Amino acid sequence: MNGRVGVAGKTRVCPHCKTTILESASVCPGCQHHLRFDRNSNVESRTQPTFSALRVEGAFRNPAGADSWEYSVVVSIRNDRGEEVARKVVGVGALDPRESRTVTLSVDVFAPRGSK
Ligand SMILES: [Zn+2]
Repeated sequence: MNGRVGVAGKTRVCPHCKTTILESASVCPGCQHHLRFDRNSNVESRTQPTFSALRVEGAFRNPAGADSWEYSVVVSIRNDRGEEVARKVVGVGALDPRESRTVTLSVDVFAPRGSK
């Protein structure tokens, strides 16, 4: 039974990109495909109100020079006690002189109806 109290944080695998996502998601945050709902899903989980908890964006640039740079983008999540609960290398790559990259980190929060 889905959609009842106590299932927060339940996950499934996106059939398109194989990312682990929330079962309640109607759009995959990874590949942004709309997801079909199986018959166990209910209407409430489809219409969960959401808000953006944070969005951080920054850019970095290799100034004109001879050498290429390498970079890695890492995201980590810590709990109240400062313990790391997740850590992921999102991407790595090379940056030629005069090239730049922009990294955007966004956190969406899904607040079930009736919770305060
Ligand atoms: Zn996906």
